[in-house]
Amino acid sequence: MRSIFRFAIILASLVSITAQDAVAADPTPAKKLFGSVTLPSKGNAQSLGFYAKGCLAGGIAIPVDGPAWQVLHLSRNRRWGNPEMIALLERLSREASAKDGWPGLLVGDISQPRGGPMLSGHASHQIGLDADIWLTPMPDRKLSYDEREFFPENSVLRKGTLYVDPNKWTKAHARLIMRAASYPNVERVFVHPGIKKKLCDTWQGDRSLLSKVRPIYGHHYHFHIRMKCPAGSVGCEDQVDPPNDSGCGKPLAEWFDKLRPRPVAKPKKPVKPTKPTYLTLNNLPKACAVVLDAKSVPSAQMAEFGRSGDVAVNAAAFAGDVPATKSVDAIIAATETEDMSLVPQGRIPIPLPRPLQP
Ligand SMILES: [Zn+2]
Repeated sequence: MRSIFRFAIILASLVSITAQDAVAADPTPAKKLFGSVTLPSKGNAQSLGFYAKGCLAGGIAIPVDGPAWQVLHLSRNRRWGNPEMIALLERLSREASAKDGWPGLLVGDISQPRGGPMLSGHASHQIGLDADIWLTPMPDRKLSYDEREFFPENSVLRKGTLYVDPNKWTKAHARLIMRAASYPNVERVFVHPGIKKKLCDTWQGDRSLLSKVRPIYGHHYHFHIRMKCPAGSVGCEDQVDPPNDSGCGKPLAEWFDKLRPRPVAKPKKPVKPTKPTYLTLNNLPKACAVVLDAKSVPSAQMAEFGRSGDVAVNAAAFAGDVPATKSVDAIIAATETEDMSLVPQGRIPIPLPRPLQP
């Protein structure tokens, strides 16, 4: 009897694998698939894959308004993240407003309800562990839907230069960025090279934190927080730690050289348009096909971060209402469970180094 039961389990898992294969072979750009899902999958939160090649199971939304934050661009529906990301933003908003003279966060994009590639914008933000915070202090009033939608992109750079404008930059800007970098579970903070230079030149606090503040294109009207994979998470690929030094010397000088305006040389031959490349489900961890296919939570409100600010309490309350997505968990835990030992090698996401793309 026991062996018949076991056979049934094996058969069931094989059938589901075949169905996944069919989904994974879908040539549709993954950004179309993930960009059209409006609610997260039921079950426990898991960040799957890499920041620029992955997805998010059991996403949690940051509420549109908090005691010290407001979310922008509500139509994008990108206020979803790993619960640890949402908890971090709540903490940053609370501590920055209490201690740094920063009145509250304007929260930009985090991730889509199930993460994954997006139809517009970012290469990363795919696993609920990246978030954009605007470099404009939160106004002392509730913004309207339209104000959030069309919020001005106020650069902190002096117009036409690569340097911070002293009339726009404040110590509170510096404290906000460095506080974000100070959290041990923050992997990197991305800013424009001009902002990095300003911090290199002026930061009086713990200079060892400057190594986490990485220069990158753009990022002069918002900055970007990237968290490490949550402790104990399986299927989430960390980025290699940044180099240990401050990064204020040669690497920063190279950035300024790279961004220096140069005369544009006229191409001799007409440039052939390159075929756009995009990710399909096949390029993402196998579990992402399951995440995409999984049942939704009944409403966005049900998956919002608890206003108590206690992720553990919130997650527990949530778990009671919504059963775990067993198939995702099973695939992720494939190496640990007997039944899934039947999954052929190569079906389990294998960590690979990827280029840095915030
Ligand atoms: Zn970003």
